Order: sequence, then C-alpha cells, then structure tokens
Amino acid sequence: MKLLRLFSRRTFTASEFFRVASLGLFAVLLLHVVVAAVNHRLSWSDGSSIAAGLLILLYMSRRKEYELRLEHQALHDVLTGLPNRRCLLRKIDEAIIAYREQSAHLTILLCDVDFFKSVNDIHGYEFGDKCLLELTRRIAAQLGPKDFLARFAGNGFVILANVDLTDAKQKADAVLRAVAAPLVIDAAMVKLQVSIGIAPLDEHHESPSDLIREADTAMHQAKESGRNRAEVFDVTLRGQSARLAQMDAALRFALERNELALAYQPKISLIDGSVKGFELLLRWNSPQYGVIPPHEFIPIAESSGMIMPIGMWALEQACKQLKAWESRDGGNALTIAVNVSMRQLLQASFLNEVTGVLQRSGVNPASIELELTESLAMSNPLQTIETLVQLKKLGIRLALDDFGTGYSSLAQLQKLPLDVIKIDQSFVRGLGSGNAGDAAIVRLIIALARSMNLDIVAEGVENPVQIVQLTQLGCSLGQGYAFSASLNAEEAERLFRSKQRFRVT
Ligand code: C2E
Ligand code: CA
Ligand code: CA
Repeated sequence: MKLLRLFSRRTFTASEFFRVASLGLFAVLLLHVVVAAVNHRLSWSDGSSIAAGLLILLYMSRRKEYELRLEHQALHDVLTGLPNRRCLLRKIDEAIIAYREQSAHLTILLCDVDFFKSVNDIHGYEFGDKCLLELTRRIAAQLGPKDFLARFAGNGFVILANVDLTDAKQKADAVLRAVAAPLVIDAAMVKLQVSIGIAPLDEHHESPSDLIREADTAMHQAKESGRNRAEVFDVTLRGQSARLAQMDAALRFALERNELALAYQPKISLIDGSVKGFELLLRWNSPQYGVIPPHEFIPIAESSGMIMPIGMWALEQACKQLKAWESRDGGNALTIAVNVSMRQLLQASFLNEVTGVLQRSGVNPASIELELTESLAMSNPLQTIETLVQLKKLGIRLALDDFGTGYSSLAQLQKLPLDVIKIDQSFVRGLGSGNAGDAAIVRLIIALARSMNLDIVAEGVENPVQIVQLTQLGCSLGQGYAFSASLNAEEAERLFRSKQRFRVT
C-alpha cells in the first residue's frame, strides 16, 4: 500500500527514489532468475545476479532500519521515551481529520507539573529528571489502551483520550490522585502535583495549535484557581482568546512602532495643595484596536514578557523627563512614580537594568518612586524583599500600591523597606458616601502608615468631601479626578510651573 502511494506521487525524496530504483532492479533480476530456473539453465551469471539481488535487499532493509531509528528519535523524547511535541502535533492532525470524517471523540488533557522549577532548584536537575520519569509511569498507568501520552515542553505532559468530556474529567481526577502520592527518590521525599487543562476536540479546531491553545488556557485557569486541579476550557472564551492572541502579537511591536505613550497624573499635597509629583501611566494607541486601557494590555504584556522592555522604557522616559524639567528649572523638587510589575521585579537582571538607567540619565534616584502592588509584593516575600533592599540602596523610593486589597499582615509589611503606602481607590470611594466601614479602614491605614513613618497617598480622590475627610484624617497626599486626570508631559509641566495650589480644606 505504502509503495503504491509512493508511486502515485509526482515527487520523491532522494531516499525514496533510491528505494524505488533498487526494488525495480531487484524485480528484474528475480524475473531473470525465475525464467532461467524454469528453462533449467542456471548459469554463473544467474548466480551472481541472485547474490547482487540479495545484497541490494540486505542494504535496503538496513537502510530502512536506520531510517526508522532516525524517525523514532525525531518523534520521541530522549528522557522519557514518550512521543514528543512533533509527534503529538501529527497525532492531533490525524484526529482532526478523523473528527471531520466520523465525528470521533477526542479530548486533550494538558498536565503541567506545579512548582517544578523549585524541585529542580532545590534538588538539582538529575533529581528532577527522575521525578519526571516516575510521573510518566504514574500517568501512563491511568490510561486506557487507546489513549496517547506525549511529553510536552519541559514539565508538561499531554494525554489524547478517545473519550467524551465526562470520561476525560474522570481520567483527569485519576491522574491527579496518582500524581499526588508522595514520591521517594534518592532518599528524599517530595510531593508533586499537576494542574490540568481539558479541551474536547470539535468542529472549530482547524489545526493542532487551536486545540492545544485552549487546553493551555484551561490549564492556566486551573493554576489560577489554586493548582492541583483540572479545569475544562470554557468555549465562551473562544472569541476572547483569539482577540487576546491578536493583541499579544500587536503589542510585541508597539514599542518599536512608537504606539506607547505616557501620561502623568499629579499627586497633590493635602497640607498645602501644591503639586508634589506625578504618577506615570502607560497608554497604548493601537492603530488596529484604538486606545487600549492599561488594565487590558498590561496583563498581556506580563504574560508574554513584553512588560520587561516596556517597563524599562517607561522608567527611562521618567528619568529623561525629570532631567528635562530640571534643566528648564522648576522641576527639581518633583518625584515621578513608575509602576512596576512583579514579573519585572522577579527578573534577575532587573536591579542591574534599573541601576543602568539611573546612571545613564544622571537623575537623582530619590526623585524616582517605584510602585509595587500589595498582593504581588506579598506573594513572594523573600525574593522580593532582597530585591527591594537592593533597590533602596540605590536611593530610589518605594511605594506599596493598591493597599488594602491584598492580605498583608503587619509583620510582613514591616519587613518591606517602604517609603509610601497608597490607599486603594475602593476605600477612598467609601469616604463621604456614609460608609462608616471604609472610613474606619482609611483611618486605620493612615494610623498604621504614620506609625511606620511612611508617606500616605490616597488614590482615586474624586470629590471635595473626600479631600476634606482625608485631610482631617492626616493623609499626606491625594491623587484623583478631584484634582486632575492624567496629563501629557507639556500639560504636566505647565501645571507645576504655574505653582497652582489646589483647595484641600
Ligand atoms: P494604578 O497604579 O492603581 O493607577 C491608578 C489608576 O486609577 C489609573 O488608571 C488612573 O487613571 C486611575 N485613576 C486616577 N484617578 C482616578 C479617580 O479619581 N477615579 C478613578 N475611578 N480612577 C482614577 P489607568 O491609567 O487606567 O491604569 C490602570 C492600572 O494599569 C494602574 O493602576 C497600574 O496598575 C497599571 N499601569 C499603568 N501604567 C503602568 C506601567 O507603566 N507599568 C505597569 N506595570 N503597570 C501600569
Ligand atoms: Ca500605581
Ligand atoms: Ca493603585
């Protein structure tokens, strides 16, 4: 069959051509020998023809063996021996065709080992490899004869099961249970767990990557909802995830195409109403999507890693702007606050890059403030604290953003080398609306910040009643539409040069 298919094609690879030619030659020789044998005339030359034929046959089978070995290597993972990503893509391709022809059920389960990097970091890569081998064995033991298991990326496995969603969920539960049992390797005991994303194949899937992307989205959802669990891809997210993927692609070029802009929102002293500084806020003017708010594109930039160059660019612009204002006189008492994502802070090169930007610009580090969100700063305290301490040594000021929305304890808070706490807008909004609870929380935060000798910025101040209450509560700075929305650089400069005082009583 395979040979017939080969003959029916118009183009051949070199090895296929050789195989066809040798087969043809062998067939001619065989025919010659058979005719000679029938006529009882088997001469020397016939004998050598047989020998040549056998040699060719031997050569062909060896060559085939070699080709098969190469093919196996190209399609299998060296460590686990499982089919690799390439093989998986082929298999999904076949499944898509089978689905179109006979609606055959197929569900993909993408299993990603949680915290696997820590296992490698703590115990070493050799230990990590042994864990993966044991995991392979445990997952394989949960599969039916028709299921297909592949290794997918570093610490991921993919199961293709010819079952519907209900059975796939049961299979996922079985895998979760099998993986969770403690694992003893080289006298060390570890507990591993996986997060699983499940996506059933349907008529919307045109290529293997469509299906894998959906399983990946579900897997990340499983991670976000606490890990060590399985989540099914929500098909209502389909349009959304396509839009996100397109935005992600466009955002990768936004910086070099000058589509990003910066806005400056003033921070006002609640003591004398003067402008003390600005918070730098990113804007994306996409020719394709229009103006995209940061809460939409920052998460995309964080997940793709584009936040690193974008964040560093923002910091660089802040430094340049401060220098320019200083050189024109009048801007030397100002601070500019730059938002920093946790993803940036956790990157090993962050500290060096910040140092480089500060040195190149020649700006006074004390006029730069970095804003970190509370929940993120607390989720990885040890590593974060070390980086923050180093940043402080550079002379930079550090602010805790959105305070009150996370779960930081007083003890954790005291370990962070902070200069400023920013009270989240949600509490400020409650001031003046008769919400006694919010007022009590704001009072508590202000008391806490003062006891720690920190500056306090109230965010999202929208009306005079809030301004008066904040002033009475002893809050040092305010920021919000009651004073000013964000401005472009020229407007910001005009504002602080005018020496305007906002009303704060
Ligand atoms: P954020 O750091 O909490 O920034 C304050 C947000 O509140 C800004 O929204 C600002 O325009 C808005 N805001 C200011 N005053 C008021 C007010 O009186 N009322 C209300 N309702 N809102 C007010 P924006 O510019 O849309 O930024 C949203 C978030 O995007 C920021 O929240 C910050 O987390 C993030 N972001 C912005 N720029 C950057 C950046 O350069 N890097 C990073 N990593 N994140 C950024
Ligand atoms: Ca902020
Ligand atoms: Ca904030």
